[in-house]
Amino acid sequence: MNTKVTELKSRLAEVYDLNMIGALLNWDSSTYMPLDGAPARGRQMGLIARIGHEKMTDPAIGRLLDELHAYEESLPYDSDEASLIRVARREYERAIRVPAAFMAKLQEHIAETFDVWTRARPANDFKRVQGMLEKTVDLSRQLASYFPGYQHIIDPLISYSDYGMKAADIRAIFADLRNQLLPLIKTITSQDDMDDGFLHQPYSTEKQLAFGLDVIKLYGYDFNRGRQDLTHHPYTTKFSLSDVRITTRVKENDLCEALFGTLHESGHAIYEQGINLAYEGTPLASGASSGVHESQSRTWENLIGRSRGFWEFFYPKLKEMFPTQLSSISVDRYYRAINKVQRSLIRTDADEVTYNLHPIIRFDLELRMLEGTLEVRDLPQAWDERYANDIGITPPNDRDGVLQDVHWYSGIIGGAFQGYTLGNIMSAQFYAEAVKAHPEINEQIASGEFTTLSAWLKQAIYQHGAKFTADELLHRVTGQGLSIEPYVTYLKNKYSSIYKLG
Ligand code: ZN
Repeated sequence: MNTKVTELKSRLAEVYDLNMIGALLNWDSSTYMPLDGAPARGRQMGLIARIGHEKMTDPAIGRLLDELHAYEESLPYDSDEASLIRVARREYERAIRVPAAFMAKLQEHIAETFDVWTRARPANDFKRVQGMLEKTVDLSRQLASYFPGYQHIIDPLISYSDYGMKAADIRAIFADLRNQLLPLIKTITSQDDMDDGFLHQPYSTEKQLAFGLDVIKLYGYDFNRGRQDLTHHPYTTKFSLSDVRITTRVKENDLCEALFGTLHESGHAIYEQGINLAYEGTPLASGASSGVHESQSRTWENLIGRSRGFWEFFYPKLKEMFPTQLSSISVDRYYRAINKVQRSLIRTDADEVTYNLHPIIRFDLELRMLEGTLEVRDLPQAWDERYANDIGITPPNDRDGVLQDVHWYSGIIGGAFQGYTLGNIMSAQFYAEAVKAHPEINEQIASGEFTTLSAWLKQAIYQHGAKFTADELLHRVTGQGLSIEPYVTYLKNKYSSIYKLG
């Protein structure tokens, strides 16, 4: 059996390396590549993706997986080898179901749509992408049809990013969360507006970046195995478990943009850097799901980075860096300002309390488009109605409405948004467990000490990589499945110290 496992691993390692090379080409194109390099780069990335797909769907992998089936069954479920075979089989079976010709057609359509969207959004012209989006809905439905036997048509599409999660469960849990959030937001936003203008003075961009780097070093982001560069839309990428990079953007008149963006991406990166190095080159060398990944970015960005304790330690240092801007601002006022709750249009700028309504609205609209109960031509109106109803604000134009997120215009419809809210929900579940195991964690954070927390997260979550599904991980770590209770409790506790919650 050993030789078959070795052969499987060496075939999977080639696929892994091709994926990492693709990621490197993509990272370069969003950081340093000159503008005119785009056409050739697109061609090269397409080639690498095609070779990777061919290698992943090689019938030899299918034969090896068949031959290893009995061996896999003889091993404990959570052993490294059984998990490797299990996750490789999942990915192989997914890859062979979709015809290569369909994938190529989909990729081509997506690239074209993205290109049109980059002009349609600034021109505030939904009509320009409407026809393309209609085709995206058709292609997304067709993609789902390669996975017959689903309960809801979105389920196979969700399974690409949040394997095992089903529309029925997500819908129910999102409805519960929405019911908790709507009255909370109403109570908070009926109170006096908070002045956070001091966050929007000019702040030296170099100093802002330096401050963020100092924080994530203390968080435990390993710069021998990573680096940070500037880009337009920040994200985290990796070329191996020992090269996990983050990107950020900085605005001179916004103290929060670079800082919280950096803390967010560092959370994704610390997760990847914490994966067992023995998994390098295998499908286990990645996060468990987009929801679990987001739970970690949100932990380091919000649960820690926007906490009172964190700023007890870091605010004097921030003040030292920006004495003219902050000398008259108390830590209390600063803390309240960075946690200001307001009805807003843009998902990525939203505060913790209103944030989840944005992905929930998108998820509901995706379900309706895929079910065929919402036509793409009626999407802008449906979007605006939901914003008016849920968030209490109507977008003045499609640019800040239905055209704002890149996801639908650079991928399929379905599967891209639920992970954000699943992540927020899980972040509180995992964090509550960490504090239960180590009650001293909150005190340590207030003295700039994160090693107890990060060691716990590594042991409980990070080291396992993709070995467990999100649901398995939740059960192993918290003893139960997905639950909004810890998250709602967290929000109510935190915001009752900032606003009157009655
Ligand atoms: Zn994220």
